[in-house]
Amino acid sequence: MLDRTDDISVAAESWLARFEGALKSPGELKALFHSESYWRDVLALSWNIQTINGADAILRELQARSRSAAPKNFQIDPGRAAPRRVARAGIISIETMFKFETAIGRGNGIIRLTPDAADCNRLKAWTILTTLEELKGFEEQLGVARPRGNAYSRDFRGPNWFDLRKASAEYADHDPTVLVIGGGQSGLSIAARLKQLNVDTLIVDRELRIGDNWRTRYHALTLHNQVQVNHLPYMLFPPNWPTYIPKDKLANWFEAYVEAMELNFWTETEFERGSYDEQDGRWTVTLRRAGVTRTMHPRHVVLATGVSGIPNLPDIPGLRNFTGKVVHSSQYDDGENWKGKRAIVIGTGNSGHDIAQDLYSSGAEVTIVQRSPTLIVSIEPSAQLVYSPYNEGTLDDNDLIATSMPLPLARKSHAMVTEQSKQLDQELLEGLERVGFKLDFGEDNTGWQFKYLTRGGGYYFNVGCSDLIVKGEIALKQFSDIDTFVAAGARMKSGETMPADLIVLATGYKRQEELVRRLFGDEVTKRVGTIWGFGEEQELRNMYVRTGQPGLWFIAGGLAQCRIGSKYLALQIKAIEEGLLPHGR
Ligand SMILES: Cc1cc2nc3c(=O)[nH]c(=O)nc-3n(C[C@H](O)[C@H](O)[C@H](O)COP(=O)(O)OP(=O)(O)OC[C@H]3O[C@@H](n4cnc5c(N)ncnc54)[C@H](O)[C@@H]3O)c2cc1C
Repeated sequence: MLDRTDDISVAAESWLARFEGALKSPGELKALFHSESYWRDVLALSWNIQTINGADAILRELQARSRSAAPKNFQIDPGRAAPRRVARAGIISIETMFKFETAIGRGNGIIRLTPDAADCNRLKAWTILTTLEELKGFEEQLGVARPRGNAYSRDFRGPNWFDLRKASAEYADHDPTVLVIGGGQSGLSIAARLKQLNVDTLIVDRELRIGDNWRTRYHALTLHNQVQVNHLPYMLFPPNWPTYIPKDKLANWFEAYVEAMELNFWTETEFERGSYDEQDGRWTVTLRRAGVTRTMHPRHVVLATGVSGIPNLPDIPGLRNFTGKVVHSSQYDDGENWKGKRAIVIGTGNSGHDIAQDLYSSGAEVTIVQRSPTLIVSIEPSAQLVYSPYNEGTLDDNDLIATSMPLPLARKSHAMVTEQSKQLDQELLEGLERVGFKLDFGEDNTGWQFKYLTRGGGYYFNVGCSDLIVKGEIALKQFSDIDTFVAAGARMKSGETMPADLIVLATGYKRQEELVRRLFGDEVTKRVGTIWGFGEEQELRNMYVRTGQPGLWFIAGGLAQCRIGSKYLALQIKAIEEGLLPHGR
């Protein structure tokens, strides 16, 4: 029987052919899926990012969506890794990357086949991913399709490339189609994607200089994940770059990226507020650029302001009695001024630990205060385990693999990685428990990445601070042992006073909904609903997709998430502008 052959390419080809046939005569579809199977669609058939669990639900959705999307020409993609046997989430399957087309675009996907013991070991789909990669007629002009650039040299008296570049960034006589608020990795990624799709886009950022979102963070910061995971779209980091990129190096790269990608970027520009005109399908937004107000009417506004927008300053009893300096972690920059002084850092996430270590290294006497149990994972190898697919293969393949994991399986594989990390970090974790540090491993042991995706923090990648805590070089106290704050520091329930000159509140950030309310008001906030964390569609809520508010989009996340998510967000905006997709859900 063909689908039991050892030649895995033939088996995969056979499955794809039967799948395509079954989409036209659905009677056969059921035989192609395990009852417990998963389909993640990223715009290709549903114009949404969604995950469907279970054969019956998948079949219903496939039939409903296939009529208008008309998917066809499914075939193994010769430009990608060949079909192979591989373990994902603890299960070995035949993993095959394929390409296909729909009525309006071209897509990629991954199918994972495993034998069904209850049905003569027939190979059936355990997971399937379908993604939209490009819109027909609006392909990116890359590689051999690159623009020729003749227009800049034919007319000697006409504007040259530089004249046109300057004029396009000034917006003297027109407004951009898309306004991106925030020029960190989220803003740069989406603007670069839109540029390739010829959608006029302006980024605004309140910072003085491109890259300041990283530059102004604390002195010792280097990226916590490795260089091969972190590339921005289209322009890879040079191969001689260090594994862990220092923040200022990344900041300077952002400047170079804006220039190389020809992005329009206004620094020192605050987005103050926006309101939407339903009739016109446009925003009226107020920008304040170096003190001057400018009103614009973009069709789309993309919020790329970071998941961590507004500092969370909890009401800590008695804190205002303290006569030393109090700063939120976002305002902390350097330990140099605190040499020989005493500091209390409240909060045990990444920022709290990193700042405590920075102060300690600068010669301060430091106490870190724990408010709630925290996940600790060593930066290497444990924190890098989730990125192991990126250690081999091409970036495009790895991004597709990262996109292909449906939520339930991603949770399972992260729980497995967390177990592995616990073994690797056993000595460190036992040492922390000995000094009274309260540990946590995330909901259902799903580890640090799910803490990030669900609540944006609650973990620390150990780059040495945990060791200092274990050795007692940095003191540890529990927040619940503090009675109140007094002029000289923290008064403990035991009666002793913990003196301090500086208190750092590493207490995290408010939810993004708060920022939406400030910028767009209650009505828009209500329409959009919850942002970030997983919703009913088993996807990050309101991220990279159309929201309840037409023309309002969100992009956020680590560098890899921005690289991947920006592609799909840009395709939706382009499709709306070309009349292929309605404005709003
Ligand atoms: C200490 C630390 C270490 C981290 N390490 C890593 C790491 O190793 N790898 C990783 O992938 N992620 C890391 N992160 C997570 C990191 O925050 C995000 O990955 C990244 O900064 C998010 O980028 P962003 O573009 O979404 O938002 P941000 O970098 O926060 O950029 C948002 C921008 O929006 C601008 N802005 C906000 N509001 C307005 C307004 N109203 N008008 C104009 N401009 C506005 C801000 O000035 C800012 O420049 C780390 C975070 C911290 C705090």
